[in-house]
Amino acid sequence: MQATYILDLIYFIAALTFVVGLKMLSHPDSARKGNQLAAVGMGIAVLGTLLLHKSALYMHGDARTLKLILIYTALAIGGWAGWASAYRVKMTSMPQMVSLFNGLGGGCAALLAIAELKSLYVEHHPTTSGLILVLFTMFFGAVSLTGSLLAYAKLEDLVKDSSIVLPRHTIVNLCLLAIILGMIGYIVFGAGQSGLMWGLVLFAIALVYGFSFVAPIGGADMPVVISVLNSCTGLTAAAAGIIYDNLIMLVGGILVGASGSILTVLMCKAMNRSLSNVLIGSFGGGGTASTKTAGDQTVKEVSVTDAAVLLNYSKSVVIVPGYGLAVAQAQKICKELDDLLDSNGVEVRYAIHPVAGRMPGHMNVLLAEADVPYTKLYDLEEANDHIKKADVAIIIGANDVVNPAALDDPSSPIYGMPVLEVWEAQNVIVMKRSMKSGYAGIENDLFFHARTKMLFGDAKDTLQKLVSEVKAL
Ligand code: NDP
Repeated sequence: MQATYILDLIYFIAALTFVVGLKMLSHPDSARKGNQLAAVGMGIAVLGTLLLHKSALYMHGDARTLKLILIYTALAIGGWAGWASAYRVKMTSMPQMVSLFNGLGGGCAALLAIAELKSLYVEHHPTTSGLILVLFTMFFGAVSLTGSLLAYAKLEDLVKDSSIVLPRHTIVNLCLLAIILGMIGYIVFGAGQSGLMWGLVLFAIALVYGFSFVAPIGGADMPVVISVLNSCTGLTAAAAGIIYDNLIMLVGGILVGASGSILTVLMCKAMNRSLSNVLIGSFGGGGTASTKTAGDQTVKEVSVTDAAVLLNYSKSVVIVPGYGLAVAQAQKICKELDDLLDSNGVEVRYAIHPVAGRMPGHMNVLLAEADVPYTKLYDLEEANDHIKKADVAIIIGANDVVNPAALDDPSSPIYGMPVLEVWEAQNVIVMKRSMKSGYAGIENDLFFHARTKMLFGDAKDTLQKLVSEVKAL
């Protein structure tokens, strides 16, 4: 059998592992295996390409040796960097890592497009369709690169949202976009041989646009923009797959692009926002701050002992996990408290907000790690029904996702986002370390609500104390 047929077969098998792996990612029980399966698929696709691709088979002499050395060196450095960072990354820093890797993927595709642009002008005659494809790949790849790097810097708190937003930033962005589209038109239809030079200028402007596109987006909207950039990278990889006539790049790119787009739509729905509103609304970043302040309201505190008594003698408890649970790595001790209450006849449920934590599905992954049964996890709507009937809602390190301003303060940057209505429970216990705000940087009136009692401290320490108290009852 010819090498190219074997390679096509390998690509087909790899594509199947991507599809099956992606399907398996949709359930916490199978997600780990799905990830491994897709990684094996990617491994055999890379290996097959190295050994059987026509450019590897039909190249000879020093040029071949040099290219192979470059490829294997890049693979070794990239593989090591990927492995080391994935090994070391904290669960709470996962979105930053996804953003960084995503940006590098976009950057790679943009570099491939530049190489192809050069080859179109130097070795072949540039065609209209070829140029359009290459220029759009370059554009999306560049936007994905700088946009994702800025998203990384924002999530890592290296850049403050307000420091990089210009007055009338949306208009600046629209002008940049118009210039880019105009330049693409000029290169394709009128630039002739100077198109190569203009292509490089376009690449530079697209890099600036990527940065500027993400600059005004911040606060609670970051999950959406990360997901938009993810789908941009997918589209870029798919376009690079068409340019290089490479099936696996095309399939992989389409899958990433499609899943990123679906996730974007789901996130927007979860936050009750339209995509255009997220992208040009400066929500949570430079948006209007809530006019409500805490004023001289006071909070009520509860002791660990009283909280333990309240929980132990309840019929129904709803736990609301948030980013703080992940920071404190308190998921296992949380499960211990759950088991203890369960054995004492208390019905324990978990209310999962779609943007709780710092990445989609963050809380599901965290709780699956602690072996919390999936059947105890409730999505927003169902969770709100259970909260209404609950004796206690206990909020562990969550803030924005339980902020009533989303429903009752039209001036709040999170107004309109569906939240977990924990104040409907008979009693509310909020566990956090201080009165500090959450990711969106806004006050939370829940802390001053008549039914709320604050239990200050690190989530893991406090849960440990609660477990000891409940055991002693
Ligand atoms: P928030 O960021 O709103 O609040 C987390 C709270 O946890 C903080 O107020 C903090 O208060 C507390 N906390 C931090 N560390 C600890 C600790 N060790 N022990 C106890 N408490 C702690 O989290 P939510 O989950 O409620 O909301 C998620 C936010 O992140 C939303 O605004 C969402 O839009 C955004 N986001 C979500 C992404 C996603 O994909 N899910 C991605 C990017 C952003 P204190 O310091 O006082 O302890």
